[in-house]
Amino acid sequence: MNFMQNAPRIIANPLAAGLAPGEATTDRIAWVKLSLVILPLAAPISDAKVLTGRQKPLTEIAFLFAEIETEQGHSGIGYSYSKRAGGLGQFVHAKEIAGELVGEDPNDIARIWDKLVWAGASVGRSGLSTQAIAAFDIALWDLKAKRAKLPLAKLLGAHRDSVRCYNTSGGYLSMPIEEVKERVSMALDKGIGAIKLKVGQPDPMIDLQRIEAVRKHIGDVPLAIDANQQWDRTTALRFGRIAEQYSLTWIEEPLDAYDYEGHAALATELATPIATGEMLTSVDEHYELIRHNSVDFIQPDAPRVGGITPFLKILALADHKKLQLAPHYCMEIHLHLTAAYGREPWVEHFEWSEAMFNETLEVRNGRMIVPNRPGLGFSLSEQARAWVRNTHEVGKRP
Ligand SMILES: [Mg+2]
Repeated sequence: MNFMQNAPRIIANPLAAGLAPGEATTDRIAWVKLSLVILPLAAPISDAKVLTGRQKPLTEIAFLFAEIETEQGHSGIGYSYSKRAGGLGQFVHAKEIAGELVGEDPNDIARIWDKLVWAGASVGRSGLSTQAIAAFDIALWDLKAKRAKLPLAKLLGAHRDSVRCYNTSGGYLSMPIEEVKERVSMALDKGIGAIKLKVGQPDPMIDLQRIEAVRKHIGDVPLAIDANQQWDRTTALRFGRIAEQYSLTWIEEPLDAYDYEGHAALATELATPIATGEMLTSVDEHYELIRHNSVDFIQPDAPRVGGITPFLKILALADHKKLQLAPHYCMEIHLHLTAAYGREPWVEHFEWSEAMFNETLEVRNGRMIVPNRPGLGFSLSEQARAWVRNTHEVGKRP
């Protein structure tokens, strides 16, 4: 018997055009524009990686913006980013694959994500290659929510209309403790609900003194610390035991980002919650954290893991394990995603990116308010346009 006899007709490329357009989905992506924007920081900042000699102080951040428009005139904007090296690489990879979007139905976000991964399959499914894809993916989610005339949080299914927020930008190791205290007060006066302080410098005693000073300064306001992966297992455990007295909301990145077992042991040993995940660049890597019971707070970063599509997969896994959520950076995006998470999350507040957008996020009574604007609710400012270093366009603007 010939097994091919009753086989269905082989379609040349069943994935080429996605679902056939129907009454409700007849739109196509017409135009894509990429912009590499270099955001300068007011002053160079240092975390523990600088004090241990692994990195230079941070002076600027590279943003990869993707703007997408459709035949029917719908539009979306998304971004990816890189600190120190990698921003140009993200831009170049995005440029190589941008043509794959033209002619696609903008609703088929999951399939477009797969298509873009396959286009660059030889450079892998995590890191720089999928971070380039993140800019497109986030723009497509923005577009979909805008077309529905809903904030993205509501399109996803919101649990709340505001999210607890904490400030990091006032707690860097490049600042003397008096300046840290000043900035902490400014953040709290603004309505921000909690503070994160950088630690992990070569002499842990200095860290402890800084924690003590800030704890005294803010009373019982929630306080977290972040060691940026600079401790070994023994130091982290000893430090964590001494720091229990400060009732910290969490200890962030006590160990190497990929030390799943080390984090799990700390989470078991300490009453203080353990947080990590910002350096991981895929769903698979986050799955390892979750599977090893490494964290109390998981800290994914949507641009870093490849966009909102993979981020939502991480949220589903995290929710299943009853984990708490405190995403890393990118408050404009994470505000919507945290609003749609089942457990009360935290969002990280930075002033750095405010000059890039026309809109400012509202903070009140310790919480960041989900904007009542369609989509993600941000647009590029004239200042951001002035910081553009490179652009690339494909398709034809309708
Ligand atoms: Mg951190």
